[in-house]
Amino acid sequence: MIDIDRLDWRKQGGLIPAIVQDATTLQVLMMGWMSRESLAITLHDGRVTFYSRTRNRLWTKGETSGNTLQLVNIEVDCDADTLLVQANPNGPTCHLGRASCFPAAPANVLAELDGVITARERDRPDGSYTTRLFQSGVRGIAQKVGEEGVEVALAAVAQDDKSVLDESADLLFHLLVLLRSRGMSIQDVLSVLADRRG
Ligand code: AMP
Ligand code: ZN
Ligand code: ZN
Ligand code: ZN
Repeated sequence: MIDIDRLDWRKQGGLIPAIVQDATTLQVLMMGWMSRESLAITLHDGRVTFYSRTRNRLWTKGETSGNTLQLVNIEVDCDADTLLVQANPNGPTCHLGRASCFPAAPANVLAELDGVITARERDRPDGSYTTRLFQSGVRGIAQKVGEEGVEVALAAVAQDDKSVLDESADLLFHLLVLLRSRGMSIQDVLSVLADRRG
């Protein structure tokens, strides 16, 4: 994934700042310091481990709270003195009980919802509306997308703002399910939009 010896360990006395980002929602979760050893442990067992400057010891995030960070990927910045750690959080990352240490850090809600929908398609839990949608097949889901599209249009010309927002949310949810049922994702749609930008 990365070469530990390529990193600039001298600049901050053997430590490198590591920005942690949710691998699914891309929300910035926290910042911590990594030593060579903490980075090696992180790469070796997949649980994000820092060096705590206040406690002067290795610190595996979640070691007492259970709110661990499961490593997905690490990116190195242009001059190799900062890390971007992409991880899947197991519970809230901030010790104040919030998802992120930066409470208003933006998250990609569509990506998060797509993750939930993907899990529903795989696990098909009983009693789940999304499971029933997948069971109705592409035709059933496509019909729902059509209905929700019409509801958005009707709300836009004849109803209040809240109705327009609620119907738009319904449409986006069903569109995500439709894309999944065809083996695609909202990310593929965003790629098309990005390409069109030229
Ligand atoms: P944990 O690693 O979640 O088991 O938490 C152990 C201790 O580390 C907490 O009591 C806090 O003092 C500290 N801590 C946990 N999470 C964070 C964080 N995101 N940023 C800074 N300190 C933290
Ligand atoms: Zn840098
Ligand atoms: Zn915090
Ligand atoms: Zn609706």
